[in-house]
Amino acid sequence: MARSISRRRLFGTLGAGAVAATLASRGQGSVAFAAVALPSSYQETAAPQGPDNAFVLPPLPYAYEALEPTIDAETMRFHHDAHHAEYVLQMNNLLGPYPELRAKGIVYILSHLEEVPAAIRNRVRDNGGGHLNHSIFWTIMGPQGSREPTGALATAINSVYGNFATLRAHMIEAGITRFGSGWSWLTLNPSGKLEVINRLNQDSPVMDGYVPLVGVDVWEHSYYLRYRNRRRDYLISWFNVVNWDEVGRRYDAFKF
Ligand code: MN
Repeated sequence: MARSISRRRLFGTLGAGAVAATLASRGQGSVAFAAVALPSSYQETAAPQGPDNAFVLPPLPYAYEALEPTIDAETMRFHHDAHHAEYVLQMNNLLGPYPELRAKGIVYILSHLEEVPAAIRNRVRDNGGGHLNHSIFWTIMGPQGSREPTGALATAINSVYGNFATLRAHMIEAGITRFGSGWSWLTLNPSGKLEVINRLNQDSPVMDGYVPLVGVDVWEHSYYLRYRNRRRDYLISWFNVVNWDEVGRRYDAFKF
């Protein structure tokens, strides 16, 4: 099973690279075909899929209470076990009749939504985005790890933003100005440069060719039990639970 999955992923990666090379040779810009600007290595980051390429809820990599006091255990339990689980359930329902699409993985599907049947496209966008975003979210937080960027990522941040505090202020501002529900992200933009963006609802940065490195969920379900309407307080505190070792590992793997 593991061998067949890895072979499928290998072909998927080669396919994406070949498409990117073809477009590049035709001189296509990165706007109309932004999705293929994703580095081929990023295709490997899809949340692992199960037998028959079913989407699966990744286990939380630490205890529910591990991020206290920034994020309370009850919020973590509902967020992971109920909200994220529902996105996974919906994706399996939606793509049940489409095994070939399911086999391409969540990153491919979200960056090629035009290949998804129109009747389910918006629901795949919402639920698939929810699945990928949260799969990233759990891994870039943790009770351990550096609380500040290090290594090549720190160098890049200092080069673009001057220092980490300024980057943090940009991300907090992006999260606050995201009216309604969405996410604030530090990404690699389609040119490979660090860029802070925010996105509505569960729209994933990969939809338009951005590589998500670290993101903070600003849906009310992620903070309301402890912070009520004080989103800014949540955002400020959230930086106490980011595992920058993991973010740096992602930067090293995906920079291009
Ligand atoms: Mn959420």
